[in-house]
Amino acid sequence: MNKKPNSPLYRQILTGRTIFMSIAISAVLISCSKNNEEITSEAQTNAFNVENVKKGQLGGQDITYERKNGMNFFQGDIVLSDKQLAEGSELNKGGASYSRWPSGKIYYTVASNMGSINANKITTAVNEYNTKTNTQWILRTNQTNYVEFIFGSSSGSDGWAHIGYQGGKQTVSLDQYISVGSVIHEMGHTVGLYHEHTRKDRDQYVKILWNNIQSGQSYNFNIYNSGTDIGPFNINSVMMYWPTSYSKNGLPTITRADNSSFTYNRTGFTTGDINTINAMYP
Ligand SMILES: [Zn+2]
Repeated sequence: MNKKPNSPLYRQILTGRTIFMSIAISAVLISCSKNNEEITSEAQTNAFNVENVKKGQLGGQDITYERKNGMNFFQGDIVLSDKQLAEGSELNKGGASYSRWPSGKIYYTVASNMGSINANKITTAVNEYNTKTNTQWILRTNQTNYVEFIFGSSSGSDGWAHIGYQGGKQTVSLDQYISVGSVIHEMGHTVGLYHEHTRKDRDQYVKILWNNIQSGQSYNFNIYNSGTDIGPFNINSVMMYWPTSYSKNGLPTITRADNSSFTYNRTGFTTGDINTINAMYP
C-alpha cells in the first residue's frame, strides 16, 4: 500500500481519487463485459463493491481479500495468485521454501511501455536491493521464473505486486507518479514481505482507529498470523502503511500505541528492513 503525498490536501485528494478510480474502473470493466446498461449506477454510486470481498485461506489462516480485475488483492496492494489461494497447494501452505526466491536471485524484465522515468526508478531501486540486501535482482535472459515490471496507470502514484516467489511469470505494477521508495516497497512484496502493521505483535506498538476506516476496508488492517515476524516491530519500515491509509474522514487510521502520530517512510530501506530481508535470504 503506497501513497506518496506532497501535502495533506494533496494526500486526501489523491488517496480518494486513486482508490475510487481503481474501483470505479474495475466496476466499469466488469460491467462492460456483461451489460452496458448497468454501468452508470454501479460505477458512479458504488465506489466499493462488497460483493468483490472474498474469504479464503492462506498459510492456514482465514483471510479476507478483494477480487477485482481478475486478481486477488490482499492488504490493499498485495496480489495473491489463484494457486496461492488454492487450498492444499504447496504455495497455499506457505513457508519459506515455497515463498522465497531460490538463492535470493530474482530475475526481472521491464515492460516496453514503462517509460524512462519509471525505468530509472526501477534501476535505482534494484541498485538498493543489490547493494544492501542478499537478494540479487538480475535482468532476465531466458529464465522461466521471473518478475515483469508493468506500467499501471498514467495518473496514479500507486503500485501492486504478487507476494513472494510464485514460479513462472509474476508482476510488479507501477503507476506514473510512484516514488522510488514505493517501488522499493512493492519489490519488498516480491521478496515475500507483508505489511508491518499486520504483524502479530503490532497492538503493542500501534493503535488501529477502526472508526476512521472507510466502509468495507477494515480487513486490510487484520493481523496476518501466518506470517513470520522477523526482528523488532519497525514503525518506520518501508513496509508500514501510512497514518491515514483508507481513512474515510482524513483522520488517522493508525497511530502509535500511545496515540501519538508517526512519520511515514517511503524514502527507502531502514536498517530493520535490510536486516529482515537478509534474515529471509541469509
Ligand atoms: Zn504494500
